[in-house]
Amino acid sequence: MKEIRLASRPSGWPTAENFAIVDVETPVPGDGQVLIRNVYMSVDPYMRGRMNDVKSYVPPFVLGAPLDGAAIGEVVASNSSAVPVGAVVAHGLGWREFAVADGNRVRVVDPAAAPTLSAYLGLLGMTGLTAYVGLLDIAQFKEGDTVFVSGAAGAVGSVVGQIAKLRGAKRVIGSAGSAEKARHLVDDLGFDTAFNYKEAPVRDQLRAAAPDGIDVYFDNVGGDHLEAAISQLNKFGRVAMCGAIAQYNDTSAPSAPRNLALAIGKELNLRGFIVGNHNHRMPDFLAEVGGWLREGRISARETVVEGIENAPEAFLGVLRGDNTGKMVVKVAER
Ligand code: NDP
Repeated sequence: MKEIRLASRPSGWPTAENFAIVDVETPVPGDGQVLIRNVYMSVDPYMRGRMNDVKSYVPPFVLGAPLDGAAIGEVVASNSSAVPVGAVVAHGLGWREFAVADGNRVRVVDPAAAPTLSAYLGLLGMTGLTAYVGLLDIAQFKEGDTVFVSGAAGAVGSVVGQIAKLRGAKRVIGSAGSAEKARHLVDDLGFDTAFNYKEAPVRDQLRAAAPDGIDVYFDNVGGDHLEAAISQLNKFGRVAMCGAIAQYNDTSAPSAPRNLALAIGKELNLRGFIVGNHNHRMPDFLAEVGGWLREGRISARETVVEGIENAPEAFLGVLRGDNTGKMVVKVAER
């Protein structure tokens, strides 16, 4: 079987040379363990941070060892009484065709409750929960708010905008990296307006899109997006600081936001969060977002890259913006 290892640590933008695709023996499950054939694996921006040898909220990837991350697969051999052969499980051992995991470290999911298994990595998985918790709990969204979300055509951002609309936002504004993505936000996902941040300064485009200001900013990007949002936020505005993808590959400190002191007079609340510390919201999230999905009121667009050997390229693609919706890698048929 194939697995993908970290061959070297990048400085700045990663390249294919930082990864090694290696053929290894398929592992054998021990007592209480299961053998999983991975069907989909996730590639996520936070993995860029794990390629660096720095202490963070998740440990760095180990040089020469397989990478890991969210995956969904089918149990093909089991020594666990809790998880039978044939069960579909979500777990944390992606970047390999087969994985051995303790039966009590996997989560059995219902394949019939999702349009495709990959939804458990996106809309019904970690990125969907990030959108839900970030908007509702961290930014304290309330009906009638005007919401701005960056990275709006990506996995988290596209769900933020849709939840805001479904929960009664006055106006939802998105920014994304192409005219096609901006069109998708308005035409397919129900955003009120969207702009291509590469076309003109974010500050100018946001001001034009939100002449009456914004109440909530969901930040996936940092930098000039955060600076523009701080300028445009209304009194008592709230920011969910979710990500800062504009600076993940930077080798020097970012220059924006330069206007943070505006937060004092406007009495803004800027709050960061890590979704892994909010798993207690999973039942509420699955009930509400799963319900919208069944009713066809929320959309789960994905970009699917075929073949585990293309996982490094899929990951680089997420950093570049090749994806619309959640980027996943299809490892095997099911
Ligand atoms: P996405 O699906 O949004 O993919 C990343 C997107 O970022 C790309 O598609 C690209 O879209 C955009 N992007 C890349 N470079 C830039 C840039 N310089 N400026 C603006 N946009 C850029 O990924 P996710 O939805 O998985 O993650 C979104 C954000 O949320 C990330 O910052 C991630 O780290 C964060 N996150 C945080 C979590 C938490 O617990 N706090 C949990 C999960 C994610 P485009 O074409 O529009 O540029």
